[in-house]
Amino acid sequence: MTDYVFESPDGGKTMYRKEVGNEASKVLLGNTSHRPLIPGSKTAIVLGAGGFIGGHLVRRLVKEGYWVRGVDVKFPEYDHTAADDFIIGDLRDPRVVDAVVTDELDEIYQLAADMGGAGFVFTGEHDFDIMHNSSLINLNVIEKMTKIAPRRKAAGAKKQRVFYSSSACMYPEYNQRDPNNPMCSEDSAYPAAPDSEYGWEKLFSERMFLAAARNYGLEVRIARFHNIFGPYGTWDGGREKAPAAFGRKVILCPNNGQIEMWGDGEQTRSFLFVDECVEGIRRLFLSDFVGPVNIGSEEMVTINQLALMAAEIQGKKITIKHIPGPLGVRGRNSDNKLIQEKLGWQPNYPLRKGMEITVRWIAEKVKEQQ
Ligand code: NAD
Repeated sequence: MTDYVFESPDGGKTMYRKEVGNEASKVLLGNTSHRPLIPGSKTAIVLGAGGFIGGHLVRRLVKEGYWVRGVDVKFPEYDHTAADDFIIGDLRDPRVVDAVVTDELDEIYQLAADMGGAGFVFTGEHDFDIMHNSSLINLNVIEKMTKIAPRRKAAGAKKQRVFYSSSACMYPEYNQRDPNNPMCSEDSAYPAAPDSEYGWEKLFSERMFLAAARNYGLEVRIARFHNIFGPYGTWDGGREKAPAAFGRKVILCPNNGQIEMWGDGEQTRSFLFVDECVEGIRRLFLSDFVGPVNIGSEEMVTINQLALMAAEIQGKKITIKHIPGPLGVRGRNSDNKLIQEKLGWQPNYPLRKGMEITVRWIAEKVKEQQ
């Protein structure tokens, strides 16, 4: 586990990072604020703003006129951040959360988590880090919000509201064995039996946010994301998800070549383009519905179909070599009845269109690397 130690000599304005055990590596990663907060502005903080969905959400909020603070242990990998204020900080450390989640922020988007695709979540090698790191972040955020709540109340300000990004990985494994008929309606969550520690942590944190809402009056909104993909997402290195992994594989594969795939490829999933995920986050956030609610696509495909779609977009013929590897549940699809009922909206962006945009973006990245 990578360890970070933070000092905040100027009262939280600047974060220093040093890797424990390596004094020489102490580096100022900084607060890159380039736009001061104007009193009266709409304010938001995105935790996990250096990540894929967080980066897209920051852009959307800035576009909507918000003053946005982003926090992450890293800057976005593939793009400049759009945040007005970007702080490098480890949210497992309560002092960092104390410094960045401040009273004047109206909206909190908690997307920071230790996560990745099947190659990260389902091998078992990262189980402790996934549970420990992500729950610490969530505990710290809730704790800080409960401290802010009475101060805002005394000041006559409206309640802070927090969005929490849960995952479809919290649904019970026993409902997802039939690849043609998986069940992921929100009310099918219990009796709980997620197939990964990642899913158990999400379930625990969902409940913790809901308990804080009941006992401390916190305003929470919870969504369960189903396989979000798109440009600016991880596309190599081991944490990438299936759409990016197959995009990369077919780009690197010669015409009539062969790519490898874990399992028989007949497991089913649905994939949601990131713009629609962000749209769903905003709609849920601004609504009166607490959730949890699915934010996902109902366009279910097999992983074989996904890989062949990526190849077709690249104009290539490929064959698939099926090899053993980490898989996850046999079938999964979003169930959008509840989101349609509560928000009068559901995602409908075609997978093919999203894949075309994503594969084109990965092709640019591959070219830059060559
Ligand atoms: P991501 O890995 O790109 O983003 C998560 C960010 O959190 C990363 O930038 C990471 O550096 C940051 N982070 C991790 N530990 C941190 C720490 N200790 N302090 C500060 N920052 C830290 O993932 P994403 O795809 O953007 O996912 C965002 C959220 O949505 C996550 O909570 C994830 O579990 C959830 N989710 C995503 C998907 C998906 O398909 N992408 C599906 C279900 C749920």
